[in-house]
Amino acid sequence: MQHMHWESFSTQTVLPSQRLARWNDYGSETLCDLTVDPCDRDCFTATLSRIEFGPLGLIEMTSTGATASGGLGVGGWAAAEKDALLLILAETGHSHFTENHRKLDLSPGDLLIRDLSKSWTHSCRAAMHMLMVKLPYSALLTRVDDPTRLQRVHLPARDPAVAFTTEVIRAINRTLKNGTSGDINDGLADVMLWDTGRPYHYARWTSDGRLLLGGGDRPHRSGKARQRAMADGVRDVRDYFTARYPALETIAFEFNWEGLFATTPDGLPYIGPHRHYPRHLFALGYGGNGMTLGFLAARLLVEWYQGRRSTDHDLFAFGRH
Ligand SMILES: Cc1cc2nc3c(=O)[nH]c(=O)nc-3n(C[C@H](O)[C@H](O)[C@H](O)COP(=O)(O)OP(=O)(O)OC[C@H]3O[C@@H](n4cnc5c(N)ncnc54)[C@H](O)[C@@H]3O)c2cc1C
Repeated sequence: MQHMHWESFSTQTVLPSQRLARWNDYGSETLCDLTVDPCDRDCFTATLSRIEFGPLGLIEMTSTGATASGGLGVGGWAAAEKDALLLILAETGHSHFTENHRKLDLSPGDLLIRDLSKSWTHSCRAAMHMLMVKLPYSALLTRVDDPTRLQRVHLPARDPAVAFTTEVIRAINRTLKNGTSGDINDGLADVMLWDTGRPYHYARWTSDGRLLLGGGDRPHRSGKARQRAMADGVRDVRDYFTARYPALETIAFEFNWEGLFATTPDGLPYIGPHRHYPRHLFALGYGGNGMTLGFLAARLLVEWYQGRRSTDHDLFAFGRH
């Protein structure tokens, strides 16, 4: 199942020395060639979240005071066809905007429509918060005869129609941020759910927007019994999540699969030789902790090979029980 998801970047997640460069990169990829000159370089912080729905997109941006200027290139996210208009809602901060030598003063609540492929500068000495809607010309052409007439349109907040429109944009932003009641996306976003039950269950989104449900481990079965057990297992996992997310009832499952999970009676792996298999060394039965125990096994097997012995080998030896 495909779903909309937010992508975001915060300068707080990178080293101070890299903040500006990474912000310029993310902004350029999102909107257009971007160069930011912060009022206070040492204290510069900024965040950007973006989400696409159909041909439209919504961006929420915050930044400490800065002057930003944009060149002619349009970012890949904003416009694959390089034809995006941007509807800007200034939430906080009085700022100055220049496009094609035309200057505009933006106040909180004002709307501005601009063409992303034109060069511009935008300056705000105080902290800013903006919502932006990307509107491809191609999407507007079905509704507006000549979308170019919308370029550089400045709509002041005092106009009741503008105030109404900004409330709609804010409501859309809130809805997309929080999800709607009963929606399958409720609260999951980038989070992975993992219950504490035995057997456990987990759910997460994949990077290509599919929902992955897992868990419900059960003892191994062979032959025909295995096929039946697999079908039962898939149904159990599905029932478990559908009981918690009823919207899943309507979603078709694309793939089901299972893997073997080997564990030993005491939970520790077997690492070393086995008396029935001379000239062989084994490392198996990691019990779900193979990433850690695999490295330990590598060390112990090398020691076996070199003829070195320690009590660690006894801990993991076959026949220790
Ligand atoms: C879907 C899945 C999810 C997992 N999740 C987790 C998890 O969340 N946490 C965790 O700790 N573990 C997890 N594991 C387990 C973990 O990945 C493995 O236990 C671990 O990688 C095993 O390491 P290893 O070095 O013993 O074996 P492997 O990683 O299997 O390495 C064996 C190597 O030997 C090579 N080889 C095989 N035969 C020969 C041959 N004849 N000659 C030369 N080379 C050969 C293979 O190509 C391979 O590169 C998961 C495993 C799977 C499959």
